[in-house]
Amino acid sequence: MPLPTIVHLDADAFFVAVEQARRPELRGTKCAVGGRERGIISSASYEARACGVYTPMPTQSALRVCPDLILIPHTPGVYGEASRKMFDLCETLTPIVQRNSIDEGYLDVGPCGFKTAAEVETAVRGLQARILRELGLTVSMGIAANQLTAQIASKLRKPRGFVVVPPGTEETFLAPLSVGKLPGIGSKTEALLVAAGVRTVRDLVEAPAARLQPILGSGVEECRAMARGIDDRPVETEHEDAKSYGQQQTFGTNLSDFEEVERIAKGMVDELMPAIRKDGKRVRTMTVRVRYPDFSHESHGRSLAEATDLEQPFYPVVSELLRAAWRKRLPLRLVGVKFSGVEEKPAQLEIFAETNEKRRRLAGVVDALNSRKDGPAVRPAGQLRKKPD
Ligand SMILES: [Mg+2]
Repeated sequence: MPLPTIVHLDADAFFVAVEQARRPELRGTKCAVGGRERGIISSASYEARACGVYTPMPTQSALRVCPDLILIPHTPGVYGEASRKMFDLCETLTPIVQRNSIDEGYLDVGPCGFKTAAEVETAVRGLQARILRELGLTVSMGIAANQLTAQIASKLRKPRGFVVVPPGTEETFLAPLSVGKLPGIGSKTEALLVAAGVRTVRDLVEAPAARLQPILGSGVEECRAMARGIDDRPVETEHEDAKSYGQQQTFGTNLSDFEEVERIAKGMVDELMPAIRKDGKRVRTMTVRVRYPDFSHESHGRSLAEATDLEQPFYPVVSELLRAAWRKRLPLRLVGVKFSGVEEKPAQLEIFAETNEKRRRLAGVVDALNSRKDGPAVRPAGQLRKKPD
């Protein structure tokens, strides 16, 4: 029986909780962190939420629905420090910690050597208790076989949630939930789905594709896979490990043109793959990482059926992963591409071996041309900048 080894940790009302830890008199009160003048609420206590305050909400509206709201101005520095301490505690449990935002992240406890699910649970409960004891912060935990399920589980019983989804039960766990619980299905899409009779995740699995197509477009299969709890993204640590090849770029101005970002990311594939070939390696997993203007970030990863040292198999994957990150419809300030799952030896069995051999030889020629200082760099046609009309 496989163990649930992926943990999603999500701090409860993080900014407010940090303030409450500093000023215990705020505990149990209707309070919120936010700017007063033309500001928005960035975090509200559960007492304030019960009063109708949510995030992000204009402060003025918050004060209207909850006139006795205690408004706490942002305190520079303290949230970042609390976040760092929280993730440091996570790293006492496992080295594989992926920080997704200031108060949310994934842990992979796979390398910890736990023998039973009960051992995993005890360790994660211990971490949850330690974060409360040492930092005064409550966090919700979801434990599952993959990130998607763990993330949904952690958000299910907030605050102080602790939900374990045994591996193999993902689909049954998700089935009764409303479709809006799936990441990427926002309130507008959810409303359209509900109007089409698709209320729960089970409905999404069972609905004929023809009914979903007009709403989800090309995302139908991806959403259905999510609905069935399928997700094989690896937990990615921030630490640069030697067993990966990566590149990232921070943009001078935030980019909101998808094709532009796609071209940059594909360009990274073109730059990383020659280094991989030069080292005599092959790679299997690609992770695309993006950062939004508010510094939150997201990673999307996918593994090929077999490792390769060619660019082509990863082009469609770049687009797919970027599209997943693009669902937020926010401009990007950073994009990064990373290859992991590095393998030493050539794969034993390769489908389309001949085509790949031709491509490899062509890639070798391109690498040779590109390594010459004098000649112009050779770029796959798909990577050329479009001429302005
Ligand atoms: Mg949170």
